[in-house]
Amino acid sequence: MKKTGIIIAGAGPVGVIAALACAQRGYAVTLLEAEAGIDDSPRAATTHPSTLEMIARVGLIDQFIQEGLVARYFQFWDKPARTKIVEFDHEILVGETPYPFVVQTEQHKLARMGIERLRTFADVEVRFATRAVTVSQDADGAAVSAESPDGPQTFRGDYVIGADGGRSMIRKALGIDFEGFTWPEHFLVLTTLDDFQELLTGCCYRNYLADPDEWTNLFKVAGDDGKGRWRAVFPTRVEESDEQALGDDSTYSRLQKVFPLPRRYNVVHRNLYKVHQRVAATFRRGRVFLAGDSAHVNNSVGGLGLNGGIHDAMELVDTLHQVVTKQADDALLDRYTRRRRTLNIEFVQEQTILNKKRLEERDPKARQARFDELRAIAEDPAKHKEFLLRTSLIASVRKAQSMA
Ligand SMILES: Cc1cc2nc3c(=O)[nH]c(=O)nc-3n(C[C@H](O)[C@H](O)[C@H](O)COP(=O)(O)OP(=O)(O)OC[C@H]3O[C@@H](n4cnc5c(N)ncnc54)[C@H](O)[C@@H]3O)c2cc1C
Repeated sequence: MKKTGIIIAGAGPVGVIAALACAQRGYAVTLLEAEAGIDDSPRAATTHPSTLEMIARVGLIDQFIQEGLVARYFQFWDKPARTKIVEFDHEILVGETPYPFVVQTEQHKLARMGIERLRTFADVEVRFATRAVTVSQDADGAAVSAESPDGPQTFRGDYVIGADGGRSMIRKALGIDFEGFTWPEHFLVLTTLDDFQELLTGCCYRNYLADPDEWTNLFKVAGDDGKGRWRAVFPTRVEESDEQALGDDSTYSRLQKVFPLPRRYNVVHRNLYKVHQRVAATFRRGRVFLAGDSAHVNNSVGGLGLNGGIHDAMELVDTLHQVVTKQADDALLDRYTRRRRTLNIEFVQEQTILNKKRLEERDPKARQARFDELRAIAEDPAKHKEFLLRTSLIASVRKAQSMA
């Protein structure tokens, strides 16, 4: 019998996880990546319990944990006062998930380990330096045309998944609106070898520092050498040019405001990102689907974007499988948009906008009220648990089950 064929555009972490989930169901998979290798710029690391359960389902969890850092806690700080406001403890989720912690593993490691696993399947082809340029479909299948080192090529299958990131060619080719807005500031990400756990006494691997002038997210990752490094994320000023934001004066003075050192920080990487809150009007057009950043983008406060993308990949492949195995008819495929679009708006967009507002609140009374609210949540075990069920997207997964 002919195998179901899936063409996936984009070998970011979402495309790779989708490919792996398809391969494990016995589909023939072609994964097309525009670049010559995996993008290893510093982006996602924070992986929440619900997503760890999915990474376990595709068989990568041991390696994923081994290559990252287990973060049981996260904290909110008052940055100008250099005072800890509150600490949340994932241990309260024992009994709700086998993974009552966050794992900080850089997203390029997930893509790399997924591709290594994909190479063990006979019917999987991973093609780097192959850029999808158009998508088409008819009653029997769908096709992606691509530019490759061997010239133009067309890949045909039963379904296409556009996991080609925020600027998705697939989304644009389908004429799907990317509804939402773009923040006026950019986010600056600095990576330093200086150890904030030695400097900012009492901080943990994930820290959110509120500051009316310039908030900071501060978190630790293992790095490719496993020796550990810290990433600090800052908003830029609207009037600041990219050159100024990335320059030495900006980077060093920003880190000095987190903790003053009598010398310059050892900054090993700097990067600047545009920040959007956008969701595609639909995640499906016929036999073509969007997943991950091609379907939705958000600010990184709370570390939810990639988590949501992996949830898309797993939901999509589960839904496709019900249709492919004739447990359901094609109409079920629309449930993918109903669930994932709605849940992204409710659990990712709303939460990341709120997270950012919490950190940048300027009004002193409102700022204090936000701190008091967080303390009240942390001090009440039921509220603490409910808060973490939401931030870890466990509540989102449970809600999906109730959505027809
Ligand atoms: C600073 C920062 C920190 C973040 N931190 C977190 C976090 O802690 N937790 C979290 O959950 N999320 C976080 N995110 C968001 C996360 O990085 C993204 O959600 C994630 O990269 C989405 O993965 P993806 O596979 O959908 O897209 P991408 O990672 O963008 O991958 C898309 C891939 O498609 C390829 N491609 C593009 N066009 C084509 C084409 N035409 N043909 C073939 N291939 C193509 C690209 O080269 C790329 O490899 C962060 C983002 C930023 C910027």
